[in-house]
Amino acid sequence: MTEQEDGSTVFSKALQDNVILCKEVALNYLEEARIFVNDRCEGAEPWQLIASTLIATLLAVWLKEFLFQDESLFSRCKKQFFKIVRRLPFIGTKIQKQLNKALDDMADKMVTLKDGASYVQSLPEQGLKHSEVIERLKEYTSMDNVNWKSGKVSGTVYSGEEKLTRLLVEVYGQFAWTNPLHPDVFPGVRKMEAEVVKMTCELFHGGPNACGTVTSGGTESILMACKAYRDMAFESGIKKPELIAPLSVHAAFDKAAHYFGMKMVRVPLDKKTMQVDVKALKRAISKNTAMIVCSAPQFPHGIMDPVEDVAKVALKHHIPFHVDACLGGFLVVFMEKAGFALEPFDFRVKGVTSISADTHKYGFAPKGSSVLLYSDKKYRHHQYFVAPDWQGGIYASPVIAGSRPGGIIAACWAAMMHMGMSGYVESTKKIISVARFIDLELRKIKDVFVFGKPQVSVVAIGSHSFDIYRLSNALTAKGWNLNSLQFPSSIHICITLLHTRNGVAQQFLKDVRESVAEIMKDPEAKTTGMGAIYGMAQSIPDRSMVTEISQSFLDCLYSTDNGSGDKHMNGSPAHH
Ligand SMILES: *Cc1c(COP(=O)(O)O)cnc(C)c1O
Repeated sequence: MTEQEDGSTVFSKALQDNVILCKEVALNYLEEARIFVNDRCEGAEPWQLIASTLIATLLAVWLKEFLFQDESLFSRCKKQFFKIVRRLPFIGTKIQKQLNKALDDMADKMVTLKDGASYVQSLPEQGLKHSEVIERLKEYTSMDNVNWKSGKVSGTVYSGEEKLTRLLVEVYGQFAWTNPLHPDVFPGVRKMEAEVVKMTCELFHGGPNACGTVTSGGTESILMACKAYRDMAFESGIKKPELIAPLSVHAAFDKAAHYFGMKMVRVPLDKKTMQVDVKALKRAISKNTAMIVCSAPQFPHGIMDPVEDVAKVALKHHIPFHVDACLGGFLVVFMEKAGFALEPFDFRVKGVTSISADTHKYGFAPKGSSVLLYSDKKYRHHQYFVAPDWQGGIYASPVIAGSRPGGIIAACWAAMMHMGMSGYVESTKKIISVARFIDLELRKIKDVFVFGKPQVSVVAIGSHSFDIYRLSNALTAKGWNLNSLQFPSSIHICITLLHTRNGVAQQFLKDVRESVAEIMKDPEAKTTGMGAIYGMAQSIPDRSMVTEISQSFLDCLYSTDNGSGDKHMNGSPAHH
C-alpha cells in the first residue's frame, strides 16, 4: 500500500464515520420531534388534529403571501412607517402645514392671472364670431413667458421653421375632419398612414416582414409594444410578465407596466458610460421575463445603450427586445449619411424585435404622432384589439385611441415628404454638430462635467464642486429653460433646430461659463427656488409625499379659480 492510498483511505474512513454520526444525530432529532409531537397530541381528538393542521396550513399560506408580494416587505414597511408618522399629532400636523404651504405657493405661481384677466367658466351664451375668437386668442398667445422661438428651451419644439409650419397648417386644414377609423370614408388617410409606417420601416432597415402603426406619440408607441409583448407572454403561460429596462429608460415604460399589470425590473447603469450594465441585465432575466428594453438614445443623458450586446442576450433567451428611439429616432437613422458614425441600433441587429421613433420630435411633424415598428407581423397582431361581438359592429382597432386625428397623420406625412432624405440629413448634420460643439466646450469648463459620451442631441451636465441645480437657476435667470434630472442630480440641454441658429450655442456656452464663475465664488451657498425644490424632492425619504405634491401640481393644471377663496387645490391630502 502506498502512502497516498493510505492517506486517502484514512480520509474516506473518517468521512464515512462522520456521515454515520450525522445520520444518528438526525435520527435522534427526528425521534425526539416525534415524541414531542405525540406528547402534544396525546388525548387530542381527531377533529382537533384536523383543525390545527388546517389552521397551520392557512397560516403558512397567509405568511407566504404577506412576505412575498410584488412590492418588497421593506418597501411596504417603509410606506407604513411614513403613514404612521404623518398621523402623529404634532409631527404630522407640522408636516401637513409645510406641505400645504408649498402647495399654495405652487398654485399661486401657476394659476394666478395678470390683473384684469379671468378664467372662462362656462359657454358664452351666444357663440363668438370668427374675428372675436381670434381677438380673444391674443390673450392666450401672449401668455408665453419663455422665449422658445429664440432657442432658449431644451427640446420641446424641434423645428419651429415657419415655412414648415405653414405647410403643416395647410395640410391639416384639408384633412381636419378625417378619421382613420373609417378607411372606407377616408381612403387617403389610410394610404398616408401606411406610407408613413413604410417609409419609417425603410429608415430602420426593416426586412420584408417588418411592419408597424402610427400612434399618438412616444408614450402610446411604448404602451402598445409593452401590451403586445405582455399578451405574448400570457399566451406562452407566463402569469406575471416582467419588463426588464435600464434605470435610464423613459417613464412611459413605468406607465405601461402600471397600466398593463407588468412588473418593471430596473437594471443599473455603468456609472462612467451611463449605458446599461449588460451583466446586471443578464442577471435580471427570469422565467417571467416578457421583454427587454434599451434606448437609442436615452432621454436623461442622451447616451446610446449597447444595443448589439443586449440583442445577443435577448436572442439567446428568446426574449422580445424593444429599442426605444422615440427621442432621437429621426436623427440616428440619418447620422451615417450626415457623417457621424454610430454603433448599429436598428433591425440590422439580429434580436431587435421592435423600435419606437417619434415623428413629432426630430421628424418635425406636429405633436400627436409617433411610429411603432416591429421586425415581424406576428408581434403586431398582439397589439391589436378586436371586439367581435359589439352591438355597434365588429370593432377592430390597432392602437389605444378609437377615433384618431387624420389631420395629424396627413401633416406627419407632409413633414416627411417635405423634408425628404436630403432635408433630414441636412438638419441632422446641423443638430449633431451643435451638440458636439457644446459637449466639447462644456468639457473645457472647470467645475462641471458631461455625463458619459453623448453621441446624439442631448448633453447632460453635473458638477463635483457645487449643487448643479444652482446652475439651472442661474441659467433660468438668463432666460434659458433646461431639463432638471435626478438620481444623480444633473441638468441637460436637448439640441433642436432652434439651437442651430447663429450665435445660440455660443450664447449658451457664454451664459454657462459666466454662471459657473459666479457660483464658484461661493460653491457652498444654499440653493434657492426651483433648484432647491428639485434637490429636496430627491432627499424626501417618503416618496408618497413627492407623489402627493405632484398630484397637486396636476390639479393646478385644471384650475380655473378666479380668486374667490378656495385656492387650495387639494383640500387636505392627508385625509385622502
Ligand atoms: C419623448 C420620449 C418618449 C415618449 O414621449 P412622448 O412625450 O409620449 O412622445 C419616449 N422615450 C424617450 C427616450 C423620449 O425622449
